[in-house]
Amino acid sequence: MTDRVFNFSPGPATLPYEVLQQAGKDVVNFKNTGIGLIESSHRSKEFMAVADQAESSLRKLMHIPDNYKVLFLQGGASSQFFMVPMNLLGGTKNATYLNTGTWSKKAIKEAHLFGNISVPFSSEEDTFNRVPKQEEYTVADNSEYLYFVSNNTIYGTQFHDIPQTKTLLVSDMSSDILSRSIDVSKFGIIFAGAQKNLGPAGVTLVIIRDDLLARTPDNTPTMLSYKTHADKGSMFNTPPCFAIYVVGEVLKWLLGQGGVEAIEIKNREKATLLYAAIDSSDYYKGHAEKESRSFMNIPFTLPTKELEAQFIAEAAASGLKGLKGHRSIGGCRASIYNAFPKEGVEKLVLFMKEFEKQNPVD
Ligand SMILES: *Cc1c(COP(=O)(O)O)cnc(C)c1O
Repeated sequence: MTDRVFNFSPGPATLPYEVLQQAGKDVVNFKNTGIGLIESSHRSKEFMAVADQAESSLRKLMHIPDNYKVLFLQGGASSQFFMVPMNLLGGTKNATYLNTGTWSKKAIKEAHLFGNISVPFSSEEDTFNRVPKQEEYTVADNSEYLYFVSNNTIYGTQFHDIPQTKTLLVSDMSSDILSRSIDVSKFGIIFAGAQKNLGPAGVTLVIIRDDLLARTPDNTPTMLSYKTHADKGSMFNTPPCFAIYVVGEVLKWLLGQGGVEAIEIKNREKATLLYAAIDSSDYYKGHAEKESRSFMNIPFTLPTKELEAQFIAEAAASGLKGLKGHRSIGGCRASIYNAFPKEGVEKLVLFMKEFEKQNPVD
């Protein structure tokens, strides 16, 4: 494992080493069939077993109730920005969106194509440095759903309390799914692109309450209707076999780690270490307001742009890669999803202290 570094990339992101090793073998010869995994029919019994196992592991890990369907789709989380309103709003109905970052903004833009959208909260003026408190917005009675992004990958903010509302909840959990316990029964739809916390790019997970499948308007294209994929167990057409397989392996790994409840504790430990390093210095500044801080993505700045560039370069040279912040806010960002090891955070914290000592400002 000596040629591996600590990879803080926001996505595609670090995967468990064991999973990568196993995937390497299975790509060449899957379960002694003499055929590589990505050469097998998606209708072969070997692949059907892979898909079934991925779904059952997910159901176990998230305690998904029986009246929810689990779908493995394509098109990325970004395709859910239009699929959700297309299936639920039918061009005329209402929905409420909370604008807490780039990904919610993009979802709001798409939703306008399919219904009447209200946005009672936005933190855009404050560079999306926080998520709202419950009392800061209301959801109109005629709203079909309340949409929120549970973790804002770019700005490093996260909802620590699920919004309380009578309305159906729809959530983009691309960057914090399976990082903490949530009560799935509170949601109508949960979706997540896999490449942050679940596996490789190429598959998008959708968890949908089954009564919602009947809401899709008749003129919806077949491939864009949730019902199509629910009725065919995500095998209406060729699914992203390799990505589903890796997700299945990551889920097995998570079960082996003790499940979501256990990984949540580890995630809190990792984030707490890094926030403590930021808070104990005037040199580093976090982007998010304290109450909104994410346990997954931690953006921070240094005293100057020059020092940031130097920090990112020197960190990379010492085996801490992927720390450059998103172009929309600059600075640095450490993404520390489930599979990111605690040793990597410890090493970053030491590096930060040493860098500050070596490069003082007065
Ligand atoms: C990365 C990200 C997306 C976009 O995902 P794609 O799969 O690239 O479309 C959407 N939402 C959130 C919260 C993300 O972090």
